[in-house]
Amino acid sequence: MTTRTAVITGASSGIGAATARRLAASGFRVVLTARRADRVEALAAELTEAGHEAVPYALDVTDRPAVDAFAAGLDRCDVLVNNAGGALGTDPVSSADPADWQRMYEVNVLGVLHMTQALLPALEASPSGEGTVVVLTSTAGHGTYEGGAGYAAAKHGAHVLTETLRLELCGKPVRIVEIAPGMVKTDEFALNRFRGDEAKASKVYAGVAEPLTADDVADTVDWAVTRPPRVNVDLLVLRPRAQASNTKVHREG
Ligand code: NAP
Repeated sequence: MTTRTAVITGASSGIGAATARRLAASGFRVVLTARRADRVEALAAELTEAGHEAVPYALDVTDRPAVDAFAAGLDRCDVLVNNAGGALGTDPVSSADPADWQRMYEVNVLGVLHMTQALLPALEASPSGEGTVVVLTSTAGHGTYEGGAGYAAAKHGAHVLTETLRLELCGKPVRIVEIAPGMVKTDEFALNRFRGDEAKASKVYAGVAEPLTADDVADTVDWAVTRPPRVNVDLLVLRPRAQASNTKVHREG
């Protein structure tokens, strides 16, 4: 019998990498996917060195044939963590680039759809009866803010996909979990959003005493998937104490 297996998308940085570390420590064989092969290979080597089972796999979640080929080669999947995603730009609706919106929809919504469709048969067949789909949405999936329409629209889409899937799979041995974080300080999220502009990216966190860390979020994923199979954590929203809503953030100085 193979080991309980967790597939994590976007495992090359931030929340995905932290989740891989947590789930490996919880005894899962972790399959680390992202587009940057060197990053997932390095993390897999680190985890293997520490005595865990970790397999790297270069994968773009927007590439359906590649996702299907990946799923076909997998002998087992008990947990799928749909974490790959991100934001592009903070332009208002009046001037936002539709290409940015399209890209955000492709990765945050269609990426989740591709991975979930491809792995559902394996999740339903989980020998431990613990088939679990986790979707990393965002508080932007539950409310909006100025300059955030494109990202919020995509994350609302991921939220709706998740809620609908839970309804449709009711009665099957698969849990559907949504984790919706507020502000998390990761190395690349804001940098990618501002297309590499470090000054703009650092302003996101300016004066915020303690934004959430990637590991804070990974801890919630680990907690949700390690509950007894009868317990479905539908939606877990977490924010830093300094952030009361998407638009109310306490900044010092
Ligand atoms: P991050 O460090 O930028 O991580 C994003 C990950 O997604 C990377 O590993 C990236 O890897 C991967 N990715 C992007 N496009 C991909 C694609 N087409 N195919 C496969 N992998 C892809 O950001 P993060 O802060 O950890 O965010 C992780 C998730 O949490 C995202 O869904 C984000 O929207 C959500 N979230 C973040 C925050 C926050 O404040 N940071 C708050 C709420 C929700 P490659 O580039 O190697 O492919």
